[in-house]
Amino acid sequence: MQIAFDNSYAALPDRFFAPLLPTPVKDPGLIAINRDLAALLGIDADALSTPEGIKMLAGNAPPEGAAPMAQAYAGHQFGNWVPQLGDGRAILLGEVIDTNGQRRDIQLKGAGPTPFSRRGDGRNWIGPVMREYLVSEAMHAMGVPTTRALAAVTTGERVQRERAYPGAILTRVASSHIRTGTFQYFAARDDKEALTLLTQHVIDRHYPSATGPLDLIRHVTAAQARLIAKWMGLGFIHGVMNTDNMSIAGETIDYGPCAFMDVYHPDQVFSSIDRHGRYAYRRQPEITVWNLAQFATSLLPIMGDNRDKAIADATEAIHEFADIYADAWEAEFAAKLGLTAPTEGDAALAYDLLKTMAEGRADFTRTFRALSGPSPADAAQEFADAEGFALWLPAWMNRVAKEGSENDRMERMFAKNPALIPRNHRVEEAISAGLNGDFAPFHRLNKALATPYDLALENADLSLPPSPEERVTQTFCGT
Ligand code: AMP
Ligand code: MG
Repeated sequence: MQIAFDNSYAALPDRFFAPLLPTPVKDPGLIAINRDLAALLGIDADALSTPEGIKMLAGNAPPEGAAPMAQAYAGHQFGNWVPQLGDGRAILLGEVIDTNGQRRDIQLKGAGPTPFSRRGDGRNWIGPVMREYLVSEAMHAMGVPTTRALAAVTTGERVQRERAYPGAILTRVASSHIRTGTFQYFAARDDKEALTLLTQHVIDRHYPSATGPLDLIRHVTAAQARLIAKWMGLGFIHGVMNTDNMSIAGETIDYGPCAFMDVYHPDQVFSSIDRHGRYAYRRQPEITVWNLAQFATSLLPIMGDNRDKAIADATEAIHEFADIYADAWEAEFAAKLGLTAPTEGDAALAYDLLKTMAEGRADFTRTFRALSGPSPADAAQEFADAEGFALWLPAWMNRVAKEGSENDRMERMFAKNPALIPRNHRVEEAISAGLNGDFAPFHRLNKALATPYDLALENADLSLPPSPEERVTQTFCGT
């Protein structure tokens, strides 16, 4: 198995990570290989699919040149400070430079216990592995910055959760796995040297134009503002926006109890442990700002001796979120509504539509897709109560008529509003089948999601909302 590793994180001091090998598993078996991503990474997908390759993906045969490690980090979980988290069940194999020249981490998630496992078993089961694979690849197909899924394998071992499930390992690829919580880890230890090294590493790796810690805060703030606007435009709810789950590179990371909304409601929550709605859809921007404040706070020790000035500067940098996010949100929803040159009033038009959707219990994805088509009035069918929508529609029709040809409008909107998202009930269906050893629904869904804007006739069922019996109201944290 040839992988051209080029490891940079491993050159950081010892206290950044714990070097260790994955724990071998009993009987590795293949669920999926992402051939396109393998090609991007310069890895031979055929070699990955051989028994040797599968062993590597299961952690039984670490490839030559790897520098396997568990990374240290801390974080706020649901607002509570946890001074030490770290990779409790993920092992970074190393980094490669992809064919676009971009540095990427390759990590095995579920590869066995590490010094950071606390009471956990270091393992993963096929449910969360399949969910992360499907959802992260769908996000990528829809143009959202995200970690990727290179492969999924079964381990031939059982993992005990609410019951015993088949174990699995996801091979995750990311620009890096550095999190807000990585900075917090060193700040909490008052380790200025580590903070300085980490800051330089992140600047070199992700934001080469950043001039120092303060400017890094600005860059990360902007990246997060743009990311969250994309989530909002797709009705995506991350579910666990803890600071250890916020990537410094601005990628969506750690798909746990996440989901795309079916029926739109701004207060929608998915995680069963999120009882107070901390990570509800509409709260995602403000929670990001809260997380960014933790990030900025962790950089204060290396922002000069004048602490008051550092705080004032950092605060100002984070406050840039509001304008960048507002612009990104407006651009996102203007594009969803087919408007190329946003003007005054367009944002209000989008807000009004969302309001009618919430009141009328409309399916988020299907409403925008129906609006994209030749008879937008048909979108009314996506509402349980379309009264508000009927009043809204003429205003939008008048506005969009100023944009030129109908054909162009449809083309633009079809390319912006997906027909397919990984609907929760379909993901659950794929997982249920996987539990019985049948990965066909997983493969079918994964393939369809690769072209989310083009709905093949034979995949029409995948675009349907859940029937009342199919509705999944919560996804569980039993990961
Ligand atoms: P997550 O909820 O997946 O973002 O994980 C939060 C923290 O718990 C991280 O430090 C994980 O590494 C750790 N963790 C989650 N599941 C396990 C597990 N099964 N074994 C060990 N550590 C785990
Ligand atoms: Mg996490």
